[in-house]
Amino acid sequence: MLEDIWKVVRSRLDYDSKDEEKEKREEDSRAKIPKNLLFKCPRCGNVIFMEEFSAGLKVCPNCSYHARISCRERLDLTVDRGSFSEYDADLTTVNPLDFPGYEDKVADAQAKTGLQEAVITGECTIRTRKCVIIIMDSRFMMASMGSVVGEKITRAFEKATEKRLPVVAFTASGGARMQEGIISLMQMAKTSAAVAKHSDAGLLYITVLTDPTTGGVTASFASLGDIIIAEPKVLIGFAGRRVIEGTIRQRLPDDFQSAEFLLEHGFVDMIVSRVNMRKTISKLLKAHLPDQKLDV
Ligand SMILES: [Zn+2]
Repeated sequence: MLEDIWKVVRSRLDYDSKDEEKEKREEDSRAKIPKNLLFKCPRCGNVIFMEEFSAGLKVCPNCSYHARISCRERLDLTVDRGSFSEYDADLTTVNPLDFPGYEDKVADAQAKTGLQEAVITGECTIRTRKCVIIIMDSRFMMASMGSVVGEKITRAFEKATEKRLPVVAFTASGGARMQEGIISLMQMAKTSAAVAKHSDAGLLYITVLTDPTTGGVTASFASLGDIIIAEPKVLIGFAGRRVIEGTIRQRLPDDFQSAEFLLEHGFVDMIVSRVNMRKTISKLLKAHLPDQKLDV
């Protein structure tokens, strides 16, 4: 009897020590793997080396999931090297409504991203075609549109109109910036008016909707492109799914607010993989502006 008990205890002790060893080994191996070495796709679970993922423009090779990228990464992928000249780089946000804690939030976002605001604008060439480019960065307070974001976008359109250049805008936004209340909402009208003047001058405007494009940005300049492109499977919408379902008391289709759903319903003109984006934009610029004088 005693022997039997001892057997069980011994096996348990063995198990524990094996378990501890295993845990220790795992811990050691974890310690040896540097952080950010691997990327696990949130959609399909595929695991690849971060280096391979970055070399593939942060698109999952298994399911074509397009990870969010910073505006600087987007710029590097899109424009001709050394051709970008930034507009209004020093324009920074104040706290027009004295919203509590707003300055701290902006300062945090600035420190985290190295950007002054949630959008960069400027002039560049894309495969030698000159244009004005606007790129939003969702890491900066979800690229919400406050007075500075709206002003930078408006100025970019005004410069493009004055210089008779096309505009290419990569949008990503959570919508209006609540800390700026009505001033934030006014940016919708302001940017839309600038787009209208650019359009009246007979100039081309291409929008590229990236993940996520929602709220007041969708409801203003993001939807006003002559050609509207989207990256695959991105979220595009105005209000959130739950708000709409609660309002209309109906269940929405599963793929509602996806790029594919909006392509099917005519809101989006084409879905283009990030891998082919630069080539596609340059072809569109060339087709619409065959006679543009080249700087190079
Ligand atoms: Zn995947």
